Amino acid sequence: PPDVEQLGRSAWTLLHTMAASYPEKASPEQQRETTTFMQLFGKMYPCWVCADDFRAWMKDGNEPRVSSRQDFGQWMCEAHNAVNVKLGKKSFDCRKWEERWRTGWKD
Ligand code: FAD
Repeated sequence: PPDVEQLGRSAWTLLHTMAASYPEKASPEQQRETTTFMQLFGKMYPCWVCADDFRAWMKDGNEPRVSSRQDFGQWMCEAHNAVNVKLGKKSFDCRKWEERWRTGWKD
């Protein structure tokens, strides 16, 4: 079985990097495809309890927000924070998601 922690770090890297590469303004087709990707991700993520909770979170008023990079990046940060809270980890300041995942930390 996969190592859930290692898998998680890799998966979040992929997901936040996808948000960082998302267009500033997404076409209707990109928005549809991205929503579909996240729904399938929620079905195929190979940690089944994680996937079940993630799908339940999306259903419970947290449908993917995919209109723009800002929107998608914020939504992804909120999704990650929902898991952080569940696991008793510190919540991340979502104003800083782009600095962490796109532009690099300003020191
Ligand atoms: P991670 O949480 O993997 O974070 C990696 C890096 O991302 C951090 O070092 C930080 O720089 C940055 N980061 C942290 N929070 C945010 C944020 N909100 N926005 C942007 N960047 C951030 N594990 C379980 O044990 N049970 C579960 O039910 C579970 N569900 C998961 C569901 C999904 C969809 C995913 C992708 C992962 C899930 N995981 C789950 C794995 C878990 O989230 C962590 O990846 C794992 O515990 C390793 O944690 P970590 O402390 O190394 O850092």
